[in-house]
Amino acid sequence: MAAEGMTPEELEAALQAKAQETEKQADTVRAMKAKKEEKAVVAAAVDKLKELKKELAELTKAQAASDTAGADNKQVFRANLNKVLEQNLFFIPSFKIYGGVGGLYDYGPTGAAVKSNLTEFWRSHFVLEENMLPIECPAVTPHCVLKASGHVDRFLDMMVHDMETKAFFRADHLLGDFLEKLIAAEKDAAKKHELELVLARLDEYKQEELGALIKQFDIKAPETGNALSEPYPFNLMFQTQIGPAGNSIGFMRPETAQGIFVNFKELLYYNGNKLPFAAAQIGQSYRNEIAPRAGLLRVREFTQFEIEHFVDPEDKSHKKFKRVADIAFNLYPREEQLQAKGTVKLSLGDALSKGIIANETLAYFIGRTYLFLEKAGIDPERMRFRQHLQHEMAHYACDCWDAEIECSYGWVECVGLADRSAFDLDAHSKASKVDLTAFKKFDKPIETEVLQLDPQMKEVGKVFKKEAGLVKDALLALSDEQKTTMQAQLEGAGEAELAMESGTVKITPDTVKIKTVKKKISGKTFTPGVIEPSFGIGRIIYCLYEHSFYTRPGSEQRTVFRFSPVAAPIKCTVFPLLQQQKFEESTAQVAEALTRAGLSRKVDETGASIGKRYARTDEIGVPFAITVDHTTLEDNTVTLRERDSMEQVRIPLLEVAEVVRCLCEQHISWKDDVMSKYPRQEAKEE
Ligand code: AMP
Repeated sequence: MAAEGMTPEELEAALQAKAQETEKQADTVRAMKAKKEEKAVVAAAVDKLKELKKELAELTKAQAASDTAGADNKQVFRANLNKVLEQNLFFIPSFKIYGGVGGLYDYGPTGAAVKSNLTEFWRSHFVLEENMLPIECPAVTPHCVLKASGHVDRFLDMMVHDMETKAFFRADHLLGDFLEKLIAAEKDAAKKHELELVLARLDEYKQEELGALIKQFDIKAPETGNALSEPYPFNLMFQTQIGPAGNSIGFMRPETAQGIFVNFKELLYYNGNKLPFAAAQIGQSYRNEIAPRAGLLRVREFTQFEIEHFVDPEDKSHKKFKRVADIAFNLYPREEQLQAKGTVKLSLGDALSKGIIANETLAYFIGRTYLFLEKAGIDPERMRFRQHLQHEMAHYACDCWDAEIECSYGWVECVGLADRSAFDLDAHSKASKVDLTAFKKFDKPIETEVLQLDPQMKEVGKVFKKEAGLVKDALLALSDEQKTTMQAQLEGAGEAELAMESGTVKITPDTVKIKTVKKKISGKTFTPGVIEPSFGIGRIIYCLYEHSFYTRPGSEQRTVFRFSPVAAPIKCTVFPLLQQQKFEESTAQVAEALTRAGLSRKVDETGASIGKRYARTDEIGVPFAITVDHTTLEDNTVTLRERDSMEQVRIPLLEVAEVVRCLCEQHISWKDDVMSKYPRQEAKEE
């Protein structure tokens, strides 16, 4: 096949194959020369190698051209989409009349309706279905909470600035953009692959590595070409003060999760002290992004939907896992990424049994997230679940996956799914000194051997005098592991060290007795592990816009959103054929019936032609339209039109609202149920 006719995927495959063939031929030539084979035979092999190199160069050139054309198409597509989104008030740049503020956007009436639909759908898909405990906490959060969670010290991005203009950039973004351009322009397949491997590790690089790579590739500030500073950390939280005195620092929360963790004890009690259980929160989060870009994808205030599912760390099974075990979709495990390979299509059951996903509960939520996104209208083929690379994960996390959706900006993380182990509860328990453990009763009490530690208070008093009470407390606070170590030290060296706030003290066998005793225990106390699915609904909505947007074939002016009824901002429009009083009564009847059926609807009584009015509803993705016309006045029927097929049927006025409701709830289908039951109406007005 000629390179011009190939899809980007075919081009990539042909390029790889040609590169391998060329390498093999080069080896053959080298071997022939080494063996000093006949000149004519070597010359023929060299000619073949030259020919292959020429073909490889042509394919590389074609790929570079295709990349550029692809990028241009994406730009045009995005510009068209954004124009339609802004014109129809899906979004409005916040504070627009004052020139706007980077990274802040308003949802207009259509956008707000899409968001509210998806919020309701999320609530029913997760909170209701899983019996989660919904809570709502303030966005203003005191310093102590975010210090304990690690955000004060570690919620950082690496920043660089233009040494002349002081414009700021995220170091990893600059490096990523630079590498992508380099890869697109690189002709040598081996070098290209090497660069792809560097890019594949982008999320892993720490401050020094980023600095070294920026130097190695001699990356300069975009636009000005000026030198860049070394990378340095920037904390993304918006700081504020709580109360007028100015001595109580607070932050706008960077995630909603912490509100759930600090309420763990209350929630556990509310849940009858039973695990597992999950709490969920929907709310605003704030991040002072260094350079918000990618439009609605990276913003400074956004809505998060977060779930914290608390489990026994020794039992992460999920009783509903079998319901999702057979679903297969695109997974992008760590190994595939490190080798710069593509995704694999695997069922969750297989991914779990192969040890790719760490446990059933995490796999269950990955499956439920996939179903949510698919039902919301995200194209499954442009969705993948990418496992975090080892260094990308926090040290305490066991396994993390991101639901990534492909759009014109590339692959975008829209949902983070992480097994965070017991880190958060441990951290808050330590800092607040409040016990955040759970107790699990065994089915039958079990007899076990435990280490019993008895401080010998007479001797402790004699040796430690005023400190005796503190030494006793410190001894009694030792964990089982620490007791074992102390016992071994006392038996071996005849003394052991005990860490106290004021320093370490020496303990001898006279001051403490540690012995193994048999004890019946009825259950275990432990800090629960946490599995956290965290959704950024704004990103999902933007990707949904991209996946739903198209132009009617044959009519470049007419744009459509193929929103599923779940997401569509308005479910149905109602048109009187003409702006005449005789149509008013039937129009009002249809509108009222739709309202009674719980459907959002819009009545368009403007004098515009029906074709124009259909075009207007298509442009905001309304799935169904009802027209009241002359025939309605004779036989009380109306026309019902489906957006994507533009097919119409004639249907009794008294039935239409119920049919639209069933269509929206997807109990019936347009093709199989409506078109087969009601007479088709020729669509003259299109
Ligand atoms: P994270 O806590 O960084 O894993 O973020 C959780 C989710 O919040 C992500 O999967 C995104 O969907 C969303 N998110 C994070 N940062 C932003 C941002 N600056 N703008 C919009 N959404 C964001």
